[in-house]
Amino acid sequence: SSSSSNRYCCVMLGSGGVGKSALSIQYVQGVFVDVYDPTIMDSLLRMDTIEGRNITMTVVDTAGQDDYIDQTTPYIRMADVCVFVYSVTDATSIVHVSTMFDHALKARQGKGPMPFLVVGNKSDLQEHRQITVDQGRRLAVTLAGRMRLSGEEVLAVTQSPLFMETSAKHRDDAVLLFRSAVMTINKVRSTK
Ligand code: GDP
Ligand code: MG
Repeated sequence: SSSSSNRYCCVMLGSGGVGKSALSIQYVQGVFVDVYDPTIMDSLLRMDTIEGRNITMTVVDTAGQDDYIDQTTPYIRMADVCVFVYSVTDATSIVHVSTMFDHALKARQGKGPMPFLVVGNKSDLQEHRQITVDQGRRLAVTLAGRMRLSGEEVLAVTQSPLFMETSAKHRDDAVLLFRSAVMTINKVRSTK
């Protein structure tokens, strides 16, 4: 059954330059990439052990040009969880999360709850910060409210961390992000 599946798929969504690739590569390969072709769309695979279970994580790292949003539709439909990334140093990028979220909801129509995480990346760049932790958290709660879910589904989606800040420079942050994604998926699967 789906509740015992050890396969997980995340899709990384967000504006260009926010760190989708850096977070994905930090998790899968354990290195921070300074320069990465922004047009590369790739899917990365990692075996992991989470809460004592061996799992396989596929990370779909989309190319984030804002005008190519439609190309992400098939990946959004096949993913178990959508990871919406903005940069805490870029006020425009958090606005784009909201747009992306609505696009993703439409893309998944008829597929039930859409597990998601909102991630404020580049938290190491404190001196360039434009978005506070509170603004990020509030956005995540607002977005959850846009889904029409049953009471059980709301609990499943909102009990796990909806929001976190990360720095792709720190491996622990990237690992925590993808482990939180797995926990979010598990909660939703357990309601089925
Ligand atoms: P993408 O277009 O969303 O895939 O963004 P990239 O992962 O290619 O990152 C864009 C640029 O931001 C690159 O130069 C990265 O090295 C840098 N970057 C990504 N994440 C972080 C971070 O958490 N902190 C800092 N300081 N730089 C980051
Ligand atoms: Mg990229």
